[in-house]
Amino acid sequence: MAILVTGGAGYIGSHTVAELLDRGEEVVVLDSLVTGHRESLLGGKLYVGDLRDKELLAKLFSENEIEAVIHFAASSLVGESMKDPVKYYDNNVYGTQCLLEGMQKAGVNKIVFSSTAATYGEPEKVPIEETDRTQPSNVYGETKLTMERMMSWFDQVLGIKYVALRYFNAAGAHASGKIGEDHRPESHLIPLVLQTALKQRESIAVFGDDYPTGDGTCIRDYIHVTDLADAHVRAVTYLRNGSASSVFNLGNGLGFSVKEVIETAKEVTGLDIPVVIQERRAGDPAVLVASSEKARSVLGWNPARADLKEIIRSAWSWHSSHPQGYGDN
Ligand code: NAD
Repeated sequence: MAILVTGGAGYIGSHTVAELLDRGEEVVVLDSLVTGHRESLLGGKLYVGDLRDKELLAKLFSENEIEAVIHFAASSLVGESMKDPVKYYDNNVYGTQCLLEGMQKAGVNKIVFSSTAATYGEPEKVPIEETDRTQPSNVYGETKLTMERMMSWFDQVLGIKYVALRYFNAAGAHASGKIGEDHRPESHLIPLVLQTALKQRESIAVFGDDYPTGDGTCIRDYIHVTDLADAHVRAVTYLRNGSASSVFNLGNGLGFSVKEVIETAKEVTGLDIPVVIQERRAGDPAVLVASSEKARSVLGWNPARADLKEIIRSAWSWHSSHPQGYGDN
């Protein structure tokens, strides 16, 4: 039986596909390639198409014996979601509804999916625990929380079991050097910093240096993409064991400031990285750090690449060898 990975040609999806293949799983990918890259797939059977295409979903489920779904496909730019909410409700919420409908019709009852730290909004305390208040401060986070709630009802009414994984900041690249991060446009700090080191950008903007943190810049939790991939495989095993639906944070529990990331990138690359300090962005909390105790104790997950230098070194090895990412494709 196969695992269906939606959004498997994207950044985190492609690393999870690689992990599943390494463990001998059969993999089917559904990806529209709207932000993904065909070249990022190291194997598996690819269907190019949209999650909201119900006929395609029915065909995919009838042509393959799908045991479980890992659902990455979504739109995930916070800024864009505040300009075009329709796109986010349509792709994220309606897309998930179509997928769950396809699963129901095909009798597939296990799903692991990408949620986000953005479901919490401004945290009440750090490290953030799964039981803390969820109050998204942008449309993107709201759509992900709506997807979680939708899954909860599909479980209660139809018995489709789910695991929602709320990731903090994914970073780094695959050890093979073959796949890595190539978002267009790029909005994540570590690739932006490394693109500045490569002189593809003039400078890196730091939004606010007067936060109540040690050096005044925001603190975030960075988690290696291969550790994230490992958590997805563990979540599938958890559902295979017949366990109850659940939500887990995935972060490494360590926060690093924007300045620390830039200084570490300078050290790793040996290159100059010009910085421009700008105004704070609305809705940017000072500190976002996860408690991943639940994932550690229940899933047995133990992030093996938690060191910031190691994460940046791994990202640098991809960016310096693939300055144009996957090229023009
Ligand atoms: P990505 O954009 O690289 O991957 C998303 C993939 O989904 C792409 O390959 C895209 O082509 C595909 N896709 C989008 N809409 C589709 C549709 N309607 N039908 C079929 N395919 C579609 O993003 P990523 O960084 O790999 O993130 C993956 C998931 O993780 C997303 O759901 C995102 O919200 C979530 N997430 C990411 C981060 C992060 O740090 N990157 C943090 C928290 C949550």
